[in-house]
Amino acid sequence: MVRGEDFPMGIKRDVIDLGFRMFGATGLHRLAARYTQGMGAILMFHRVRPASHEAFAPNGGLEITPEFLDLLLTRLKGQGFAIVSLDEAVTRIRDGAGDAAPFVALTFDDGYRDTAHVALPILEKHGAPFTVFVTTGFADRTARMWWVEMEEAIAALPAVRIEAAGRLFDLPAGTPEEKQAAFEALYWPLRAGEERELLRVTGALADEAGVERIDLVDELCLNWCGLRKLSEHPLATIGAHTLTHPMLAKHPDGFARHEIFESKAIIEREIGREVKHFAYPVGDPGSAGAREFVLARQAGFASAVTTRPGMIFPEHASHLTALPRLSVNGHHQSLATLDILLSGAPFMLWNKGRKLSVA
Ligand SMILES: [Zn+2]
Repeated sequence: MVRGEDFPMGIKRDVIDLGFRMFGATGLHRLAARYTQGMGAILMFHRVRPASHEAFAPNGGLEITPEFLDLLLTRLKGQGFAIVSLDEAVTRIRDGAGDAAPFVALTFDDGYRDTAHVALPILEKHGAPFTVFVTTGFADRTARMWWVEMEEAIAALPAVRIEAAGRLFDLPAGTPEEKQAAFEALYWPLRAGEERELLRVTGALADEAGVERIDLVDELCLNWCGLRKLSEHPLATIGAHTLTHPMLAKHPDGFARHEIFESKAIIEREIGREVKHFAYPVGDPGSAGAREFVLARQAGFASAVTTRPGMIFPEHASHLTALPRLSVNGHHQSLATLDILLSGAPFMLWNKGRKLSVA
């Protein structure tokens, strides 16, 4: 999770679309790639499931179809990318890759059931290693997926009337368009504010709509039995994604430390193997910064990934707990977009010519 992680804040979607069209029309990204592609990339996925075709699907950016995953893996191999495990990616970053082909590492956040049931057969078909970042509270059915609560509540309610983030919202939600507008109106101020208020508001809306919060988690996420089975798969690596999926940077030191250290310990105990990789929930600069990068290192992780977009460069060897990822976004399920992203050219523009975003 979450939406809006895949592009830097403050860049409007139409500007981004214009950029994609410009690269697509000129092929400039292919010329730039030798300077901008670096060693490769870590891709981020969430859900993989057949297209729902629902008119109100505000979290649609977080899912792709199995057909697109299959096409994407075929394309990566066709273009000469080596699909590697995160262990191998870290080894290459640390030791240098010499003349090796650029790599791609695949990561799936949150521990969804469809990772094991829909994505896995496709990954197997391609012999593609992958990492699943597990939030222990989702496996335990004790943590909350507030972005799903918000979606399900607004889908069920004819109107949204609630005091949130110090404002009174009174929004119609009768049509899919109204529901989308209501979701957008609530989502951004709540996500920008305190996590406690975010959870209070989404919980209240879910209660009003008769949506059972924990049932949502149970429906969407693997339990420990499923995760243990997945962890035994030769292509799978299990990583940690905290206890409760908080935006860590908004919380005190002790809380952030506990979420990072304890999730590693619990997953190791449950699956009986070392957990070497970590993903920061939400993962943007407002959720994971310098303090979190240090904590992940202190916890003993070999790597930790953000959702800041960017390619991997040799200089990341000094920043292995602040690695960027490319979101494979459900709103951009096209191979042309994938090609442009993997050239690295857009990030050099967005990062104003800097290769790394690690502060
Ligand atoms: Zn997540």
